[in-house]
Amino acid sequence: MRTACTSLGRSGDDVPEFAPTDKWPRHPKPWWRDALDMARDYGWSLTQIKGHGWGHIYCPARSCDYPIYSSGTAPEGPAKTARRKVERCPHGTVAAESVSHIEALLTKAERLIDAADALSLKNKLERRAELLDAADDLVSQSAAWDEFGLLLAQAEDAEQEAAAAFAAAGERHDAQAGALDAADGQVRSARDALQRPRLPSGEVKRLKGWADELRARIVAARSA
Ligand SMILES: [Zn+2]
Repeated sequence: MRTACTSLGRSGDDVPEFAPTDKWPRHPKPWWRDALDMARDYGWSLTQIKGHGWGHIYCPARSCDYPIYSSGTAPEGPAKTARRKVERCPHGTVAAESVSHIEALLTKAERLIDAADALSLKNKLERRAELLDAADDLVSQSAAWDEFGLLLAQAEDAEQEAAAAFAAAGERHDAQAGALDAADGQVRSARDALQRPRLPSGEVKRLKGWADELRARIVAARSA
């Protein structure tokens, strides 16, 4: 087991500093231990300077920091604030990478669903145009010809929309079902990644809501 005090530069040689990979000293209060565990998971470091409370934590970029007290009269408030500070730090690699990875999965899923919807619309419009074409007596009327032309133009627009969405997703499918299956896979991976512990809770809520919304769109598109 490592008990090393790694000097990370700024704090000088005589100040004990604990890297996120080190074993950190145990805080006497459980609420502070939770906050410290979380900070370490997010890649923060801890320093302990005698006479300056229990310690001080720094984010990976050393842009955010927070004092750790020994106890105090209203002890849980500052520990809660410390957790919030850790969650909201935009410099942490672990959390930021996970969140942006999940965002990328869901963004791709959304584009694939958009493409699938556009493909479905295109097929519907083309089918309507075919039906109109098959009804000979209607085609002889100029109003029907206008509608026929309009349906084909709309179908072409929908096809272009699908192509643009596929290009944005970086993946092409010929059929709506294939696009929806791929989108479903993306949403499932995102949901798995959201199970990872200690992601920022606000982000988890937002990303879960987004995943649920996309899942509902997939279900609706499949049953349409
Ligand atoms: Zn930070």
